[in-house]
Amino acid sequence: FTVFVPRDSTALALGANETAEAIAKEAKARGIDIKLVRNGSRGMFWLEPLVEVATDAGRIGFGPIEADEVAALFDADFLNGGKHDKALGLVEEIPYLKKQERLQFVRVGITDPVSLEDYLAHEGYVGLKKAITMEPAAIVQEVTDSGLRGRGGAAFPTGIKWKTVLGAQADQKYIACNADEGDSGTFSDRMVMEDDPFMLIEGMTIAGLAVGATEGYIYVRSEYPHSIANLNEAIENAKAGGYLGENILGSGRTFNLQVRKAAGAYVCGEETAMLESIEGKRGMVRAKPPLPALVGLFGKPTVINNVISLSAVPLILSRGAEFYKNYGMGRSRGTLPMQIAGNVKYGGLVEKAFGVTLRELLYDFGGGSESGRPIRAVQVGGPLGAYMPESLFDTPFDYEAFAAVDSTVGHGGLVAFDDTVDMAKQARYAMHFCKAESCGKCTPCRIGSTRGVEVMDKIIANQNRPQQIRLLRDLCDVMVTGSLCAMGNMTPFPVLSALNHFPEDFGDQPLATA
Ligand code: SF4
Repeated sequence: FTVFVPRDSTALALGANETAEAIAKEAKARGIDIKLVRNGSRGMFWLEPLVEVATDAGRIGFGPIEADEVAALFDADFLNGGKHDKALGLVEEIPYLKKQERLQFVRVGITDPVSLEDYLAHEGYVGLKKAITMEPAAIVQEVTDSGLRGRGGAAFPTGIKWKTVLGAQADQKYIACNADEGDSGTFSDRMVMEDDPFMLIEGMTIAGLAVGATEGYIYVRSEYPHSIANLNEAIENAKAGGYLGENILGSGRTFNLQVRKAAGAYVCGEETAMLESIEGKRGMVRAKPPLPALVGLFGKPTVINNVISLSAVPLILSRGAEFYKNYGMGRSRGTLPMQIAGNVKYGGLVEKAFGVTLRELLYDFGGGSESGRPIRAVQVGGPLGAYMPESLFDTPFDYEAFAAVDSTVGHGGLVAFDDTVDMAKQARYAMHFCKAESCGKCTPCRIGSTRGVEVMDKIIANQNRPQQIRLLRDLCDVMVTGSLCAMGNMTPFPVLSALNHFPEDFGDQPLATA
């Protein structure tokens, strides 16, 4: 019997290690021979720890299973598909999974994340093997043709960025992966790194071959110790298998990779602050130009991409640009792993092609609010994302459609709030977050956020609200137009969306408009 118990940190937080130990102990006590595999998570977190058993028809699931329920699971003969009140049937048939379009997360939750053998058995390294036979410009063209845009939030075409680095003349170039996933309600980067790290390693290796870079860095937030451990183990296994390091697969090409641990500053998710941090300096934003593609890490041409962008690359190479491009809508091509969090019944990861609506994600997947009350607002794209009201829930996930309603797709994270939320307090929180996380380099962000908190305090305390709201709008204007980076530029998104969509939370006096 092969039994699977996830090792993803969400599952661990819910007791997966204890469940796995109890299963091993119980099997031994009953004289049953089992192979226990620690797989990744399927991303259906309300079912964790999700125990799966391999059968001829596919894997059957039981969940959530805590350690003290394991003996009863054996009593129910779960290894032979016996009846149990937490039996879920075939895991692949669970609607939450079945309705997804898992192109990129196809192995996540299925394989042992650090087993190279498992990765190879599930279409791993097909993209790299193809890339090795191609000219660098042809690899860049394939990525350009796929329509892939930066999944970290900026949505810049990945192929164009790579083309700039490919064309730059330098003795050294770098690939830098931004894995400082600091947005509230986001965890797709973490799941890649913990649950299928070879996908990212392969994507970065292909990027290296494409632009002529021989060194790569993965900048991982320090709050992700399991990601760091799994990446390091997978890097060693990839090297031992000849897929990384010197003379990759006998091609004479080199690509080395190392993991850098971040130190907990949100602003280091901004690409130039990240470069400073990797170089060992304080994480301060650099003015652009020069573009990092030309003068980046240690002053050399650098590709900077997010985890999801880079880990889409193996699939684009193995299946072809045409295959990838066929998913999505408008200029938003392919799929996006969306993360459903906050006040929802079924929080988790949902990979769907662009075009899916907020309403589908919140209700068809998320099951509505956990509290049973109406969902009033959803913040999309992290702490600097707009709050979207019910009237915008039919907006399709598409970079341009979101921009048209003054919102952003960001990194695909959704945080839902029910009707008990106080949107004025949420607006204050956005200013406070900016105040706490500002790198301090430019005035609109450094001083503006501090003044913003003060103004919000006066609005909440009902002190001359119309005048304070006018002041708040002015301040937001200055922050949007005068800040050096997205931290200051985007803090007005949650503030103004709260004010414009939920004016009733800002008092009963007439609102001052822009
Ligand atoms: Fe730093 Fe804020 Fe200016 Fe960005 S906007 S450079 S975080 S002070």
